[in-house]
Amino acid sequence: MGNGASYSKAKTVYLDVNGEQQKIVFSTHSSSRDISDLLCVAAGVGKWVNITLRDQDGAFVSVAPTMPINTVRNPYKVHAHDQQRNAQGSNDEFLQGVMTQVAEQFNKAFKVQDLKEEVSSRLTAMERRMENITYKDQAEGLKAIEIEKCKMEIGHLKDELLAAKKSHAKFCKCSGPVVDEKRIVTKRDVPKYPKYTLSNETIKYLKKPTFDIWHWESNEMLCLLEHMYHELGLVKEFNMNPIVLKRFLLCVQENYRNNPFHNFRHCFCVTQMMYGMIHLCELHTKLSLLDMATLMTSAVCHDLDHPGYNNTYQINARTDLAVRYNDISPLENHHCAVAFKILSNPDCNIFGNCAKDEYKQIRQGMISLILATDMARHSEILDKFKSQVTGNFDFNSAEHVNSLKMVLIKCCDISNEVRPMEISEPWVDCLLEEYFMQSDREKMEGLPVAPFMDRDKVTKPTAQIGFIKFVLIPMFEVVARLFSQLDDQMVEPLREALYRYEELKLIEDSKKEEVEIEELQEEEDDVIVAGNTY
Ligand code: 5GP
Ligand code: MN
Repeated sequence: MGNGASYSKAKTVYLDVNGEQQKIVFSTHSSSRDISDLLCVAAGVGKWVNITLRDQDGAFVSVAPTMPINTVRNPYKVHAHDQQRNAQGSNDEFLQGVMTQVAEQFNKAFKVQDLKEEVSSRLTAMERRMENITYKDQAEGLKAIEIEKCKMEIGHLKDELLAAKKSHAKFCKCSGPVVDEKRIVTKRDVPKYPKYTLSNETIKYLKKPTFDIWHWESNEMLCLLEHMYHELGLVKEFNMNPIVLKRFLLCVQENYRNNPFHNFRHCFCVTQMMYGMIHLCELHTKLSLLDMATLMTSAVCHDLDHPGYNNTYQINARTDLAVRYNDISPLENHHCAVAFKILSNPDCNIFGNCAKDEYKQIRQGMISLILATDMARHSEILDKFKSQVTGNFDFNSAEHVNSLKMVLIKCCDISNEVRPMEISEPWVDCLLEEYFMQSDREKMEGLPVAPFMDRDKVTKPTAQIGFIKFVLIPMFEVVARLFSQLDDQMVEPLREALYRYEELKLIEDSKKEEVEIEELQEEEDDVIVAGNTY
């Protein structure tokens, strides 16, 4: 009787599932969710599929315990919302998420001018994420129509952003065709750049690779750079206005960004090492003052306006720089373009009093040297120089001297490990900080990540051992074949640094081993405890 009573509260509903007759029976105590699930079973689809019912007149029938019953002759037509519709649901959510992010970035961009570049690159990143989602969803048999819609929306936003950028540029001179003009103009002028009297000890010490480059603040570094130009006789030779030299250096300093590694102190280090090598190798006896001016000024300018993300990132993220320079050394081309933008201002042009031909040679030389700092060209440049040294190096051959200058700037650019350990070591932390900033961003944007930049894979010793062994020592050894004094002063300190990092790696490895053994021991203990308990 109990069953009969409960059955008397049951409802039977007839269905038409793609022309096939089905029926469901449910209790009036059922929930709407239960009935939906039942409908899914009857329709032969998964529980996550939305089902709607329509009567003979096409009217929607509510899926609920109170739904009107029907007869076998008037079944409700079942419409299962296929996976594509389901995908639309999740894509709508995704679309909304993306749009919220875009809107946030867009609003921020109009509050802060500098964020505009960022917005463009984030949009590109989102596009890439969409591409990944498309492939994933397609693999699951989902259609990509909704994702295409989302892409179109992003396209519209990009167009709007570009239009806004253009109209902003009409009224504001802050964005130029190649470089940001706003940065080119110095905010301070030379009277605000204090004059220091350098002690004889500092002057002497400045020529050594052991010079403490951490000891000085920006204004002092400016003053030391200025001293180098005077001391080398460049101010006299090129009839430089000393105030123009000060302004040039000030402008250079203001066009380095505050990156962990590629900052004004790195510029100072590279230039100071160049100055040191000029003295150590007595280059004034072998090269012209024009060569020396080219070497020094290239070192000063070689990383101007570095954004803190390397060429691989620029190319993979398809940044404006990569597009502008067709993926060919985008950063180095940019550093060089910024250098000549600064020099195009007569107030900053240290070569303003040079003859046309001299200026042309300096410009050509600087372009060649700054572009040579792209490590992607390392083997090409070193192999050529090696063959010239192995044959008979000719200081009268423009081609040979040009190779030597390229190798010299390369040596200085990556010379931190030549310095005493207390001075070189903090640079590794700076470099890794910048690497990790890039790899974190690459992970976030779905771009490839180089293992040597990955915080989960790299340590200080592992970062340095290969670099010293396979890049630094072989390069300095070739230069030392021309200038034997480098053996003691540079190659030997590199060997010592390598030895020290190898020792550190051994300590690191044994610590890692200890931790692994401890973990294994803990696991074994857990098994024993578990065995005793159960
Ligand atoms: P850059 O022109 O970028 O200053 O120098 C070239 C590149 O050489 C750097 O971006 C960095 O990848 C690499 N590099 C320079 N110094 C070191 C170093 O001490 N260790 C390692 N592992 N790489 C370095
Ligand atoms: Mn550099």
